Amino acid sequence: MSKNKSSESVKVVVRCRPLNRKEESNGPGGDIIQMDLRLGQVFLRNPRAPASEPQKTFTFDAVYDAKSKQRDLYDESVRPLIDSVLAGFNGTIFAYGQTGTGKTYTMQGAWLDPEKRGVIPNAFDHIFTHISRSQSDKQYLVRASYLEIYREEIRDLLCPNHGSTRALDLRESPETGVYVRDLTSCVCKSIKEIEEVMNVGNQARAVGATDMNEHSSRSHALFLITVECSQPGPDGRKHIRVGRLNLVDLAGSERQAKTGVQGERLKEAAKINLSLSALGNVISALADGRSGHVPYRDSKLTRLLQDSLGGNAKTVMVATLGPAPQHYEETLTTLRYANRAKNIQNQPRVNEDPKDALLREFQKEIARLRAQLNHRKWRNKQKKDRVDGESWERDREEETEGEEEQEEVEKAAEEYVKLEEQRLEREKEAIREDRFLLAEEKQRLLGEKERMMGDLRKEQEATEQLTAKYKAMESKLLVGGKNIIDHTNEQQKMLEVKRHEIAEQSRNEREMQQQMLAQDEETLELRETFTSLQQEVEAKTKKLKKVLKLYAKLQCIKAEIQDVNNEHVTSRQELEQTQNELTRELKFKYLIIENFIPPEEKNKIMNRLTFDPEEDQWKFQPLVPAESKSLQMKKRPTSAVGYKRPISQYARVAIAMRAHSRYRAENIMFLELDMTPPNAASLDRSAEAELNQSPSLDSSPTKDRGVRKSRSWCQTPKSIPSSSSNVSLAACHAATPTAAQ
Ligand code: ADP
Ligand code: MG
Repeated sequence: MSKNKSSESVKVVVRCRPLNRKEESNGPGGDIIQMDLRLGQVFLRNPRAPASEPQKTFTFDAVYDAKSKQRDLYDESVRPLIDSVLAGFNGTIFAYGQTGTGKTYTMQGAWLDPEKRGVIPNAFDHIFTHISRSQSDKQYLVRASYLEIYREEIRDLLCPNHGSTRALDLRESPETGVYVRDLTSCVCKSIKEIEEVMNVGNQARAVGATDMNEHSSRSHALFLITVECSQPGPDGRKHIRVGRLNLVDLAGSERQAKTGVQGERLKEAAKINLSLSALGNVISALADGRSGHVPYRDSKLTRLLQDSLGGNAKTVMVATLGPAPQHYEETLTTLRYANRAKNIQNQPRVNEDPKDALLREFQKEIARLRAQLNHRKWRNKQKKDRVDGESWERDREEETEGEEEQEEVEKAAEEYVKLEEQRLEREKEAIREDRFLLAEEKQRLLGEKERMMGDLRKEQEATEQLTAKYKAMESKLLVGGKNIIDHTNEQQKMLEVKRHEIAEQSRNEREMQQQMLAQDEETLELRETFTSLQQEVEAKTKKLKKVLKLYAKLQCIKAEIQDVNNEHVTSRQELEQTQNELTRELKFKYLIIENFIPPEEKNKIMNRLTFDPEEDQWKFQPLVPAESKSLQMKKRPTSAVGYKRPISQYARVAIAMRAHSRYRAENIMFLELDMTPPNAASLDRSAEAELNQSPSLDSSPTKDRGVRKSRSWCQTPKSIPSSSSNVSLAACHAATPTAAQ
């Protein structure tokens, strides 16, 4: 699986945007940032420090000043990464910086102006142009997803029910690493389609937010592209390479104010900071290289970027800066952050033939549909040949490999359907005109032909449906060299190659210069033998100069250490403050629990709670385990069907035998009436009538069979007042002495 085991550091580039109108109107102060494009260095001046204080210097893989063009950044720093993704590596580009410094401008830019298109639209062009220019034996499948992380919740921006509270979970598999479960992924066949996907996501992002600027500065947006490429290898088998590209526009890196807020607001601020501070911790742990534990699991963002930071991906970080003096502290923090990220080492490797490649499934499905279609057409052709009386027979449809032959089969199949239709029409006509046939017989034959016609049409419809499905499926796969876009002519191709070469050359030049500078500082070794006094003076002056330089550097480093310490003190104070707020809230909740929830209820709740580390939530265990619940709610035991409670076989027989009153059933339905004639024979008619009207006696014929329908005393006729229900029950008992036993 792995092709390239060598490690490679995260590429870090810095970009500074121009002063905006507001900053210009704020008066003098000017830029606090100077850049040496050739050396890839940034010099930061502290606007509040005396002029004698040395500037802070940082060196990066490349730096882009206010005049830099989108295209330059892309060609020099992003293009090689996209090329790697197309070769099957995982790649990540993320923009980091304070709000308003140009993260979104760098990642997206102004779509309509070709000069101002950012990394993402340029990457779309690059990917699809590459596909259209590649060899025709390559097949590609491109998919895109778009998500955002806001308050530690992942939202699918391509899912139509975005805005509802459905947050997605993270999962991990050995094959793909960390992924988002149920994330929508759209197959894209062209630049237009993938742009459409981006637009849909951007709109969903805007809809979910009350204030777009505010929202985008507090949420992380991740656009994910998967490019699968299949190509026949030397062994003749098709091999698939999968490249995954993450394009990340991070939330603004400025500190969210946490002090003095409570409840929901406190939690929100803490969560917004969480991902970025976790990212900082991950970068520190990786850059340090000594600490064994890297806290990826501390936030959703770091888990998703696990591969990109210290993993198997190639990564480019674009740190964006604003030149205004009022943002000196934030700018310095960004530069330090970026400087640390330079030391992260990744081990990029090609994803070859992963098990979950969708392209493989698509190819299988297409092959299956094609075989089905061929089978149908071949069958029709054979039928036609039989009709034509041709004895030429072949029984394997797979043999129709050649294009010409395929076309011939298709034509023959279509012709067969047409001819068959015509034949059936003719036969129907003949039947209608046949005078010797009985009307009934005619009807039957016509019906039969009609049915055959119906079958034929159904068959044809099924074939058409299959063809449509096959074509739809096939169109999702892009074939190299086929979809050449008009503007990609040879000249343009050459131009791009040249541009690529120039970018490569300037990158190499910069690297060499940086190396020379480093070596120069290290080579303090001077000749100790001097031929003349003059020479000695020269050499010692030179040495002194270098020592002075080193001393200045030492001062810088000391100042740096002081700054870092101050920063740590501030962040510790902030953390303590957050902790105090949270402790206060915890005490409040405790107070309520201890005083207002009965202890036994509290214990019950406590016993049911479990922590789900995947979702980072406390959860209630179900009261009854899921499987035993269904068992418990099962039918009554077989020994108790029709009875109030389980009953022994002996008792059952005894009931049937009416052996003893002890075994009489309790259900009044099973009781029998006392059949001895009532002693009312001597009663007069009025008494008898009264007896018949009595609500507790039933004079229906069932009575003769010895079974009496029970009637709930609650349902006594209206003539009996409800308040006297007890009385009526007593009356009922009196009237049926046997039942009362
Ligand atoms: P962020 O996403 O970091 O909050 P934006 O990308 O929205 O910042 O940029 C803020 C403003 O600055 C936008 O109006 C953008 O057009 C402008 N801007 C940023 N970077 C540049 C640049 N390199 N050149 C010109 N304008 C820029
Ligand atoms: Mg933005």
